[in-house]
Amino acid sequence: MKNTKQVKIGNITIGGNNPIAIQSMTNTKTSDREATLAQIKSLSAAGCDIVRFTVNDMAAAEAIPYYVENTSIPLVADIHFDYRLALAAAERGISKIRINPGNIGEKENIKKVALACRERNIPIRIGINGGSAEKSVLVKYGGPTAEALAESALINAQMLEEFDFTNIVLSVKSSDVKTMVDAARILSERCDYPLHIGVTETGDVRRGNIKSAIGIGSLLLDGIGNTVRVSLTDDPVNEVHAAKDILFCCGIGGGINIVSCPTCGRTESNVIGLVNELERATRDIKTSRRLTVALMGCVVNGPGEAKHADIGVACGRNEGLLFRKGEIIKKLDESEIVDTLVSEIKELINA
Ligand code: SF4
Repeated sequence: MKNTKQVKIGNITIGGNNPIAIQSMTNTKTSDREATLAQIKSLSAAGCDIVRFTVNDMAAAEAIPYYVENTSIPLVADIHFDYRLALAAAERGISKIRINPGNIGEKENIKKVALACRERNIPIRIGINGGSAEKSVLVKYGGPTAEALAESALINAQMLEEFDFTNIVLSVKSSDVKTMVDAARILSERCDYPLHIGVTETGDVRRGNIKSAIGIGSLLLDGIGNTVRVSLTDDPVNEVHAAKDILFCCGIGGGINIVSCPTCGRTESNVIGLVNELERATRDIKTSRRLTVALMGCVVNGPGEAKHADIGVACGRNEGLLFRKGEIIKKLDESEIVDTLVSEIKELINA
């Protein structure tokens, strides 16, 4: 991972060698305390590390102390257009502020926000999106290109630096996967601020997960990215599940890696059904270890994969051979396969 500056957001630190944090955003009215707190808690329970909400009016800002009192997860205020809302959020215990200086207006107002945040050690994320980069930069590059997004972020970071403010996180997002990836790579080369990464406005779960996996995954494999957000037009809890899966598939963090074959004409057990059942049964198992569980359809690749996994089954006709660390343990009836794998996984985790 690229060794960026460290930034403290509430009770967590990002950047440096700290773990990559998962972020999501509520879609309730922030002024609706009951609904928003319930969603913050659901996100936290799903594995979210940082929750952002919009602070789009004073009623939303007034609710911040309620959330600070009732949850320990770091909270980020998303501010557009009105710098006074950023000041109100800073005064009410927010852990981080996300602004796009381009739509905050007067430099003097941005300075007021920077000073209020500096006084309280609150970091600011400069979030540049394809639709909100400075006009002059868009004209220079002929549109929201990767260069334009990165340059816009750096110009805004320099403005905060002029106010002696360096407690900064940067993000450059686009709904175009390649533009987002290229922009983040440019930023990563040109500065040492921690980066929040994600593809924005991705669409529904199916396509959104794929765009996010490609965009966020490409950067994580390059060692770029300190916080991640999967942005979906859906329940934000699904953003957290997707972010966890992307991190895991990039080799980050613990979990259960299920290796299963695509099935073919040789398959003589209901491997698709078994794998779906096994995914459901293991989804909520929490472990810091990475365990590989193989569920293979036949003897062609089955025993080989099952042997190399921590635990595995190579299926035959309505049955399977159970392997543990390369050793054949026993023959299982098809109906026993999932339960046996789950109890073997739990045993390995607790060993
Ligand atoms: S492991 Fe066997 S059943 Fe599965 S795809 Fe390969 S040959 Fe087919």
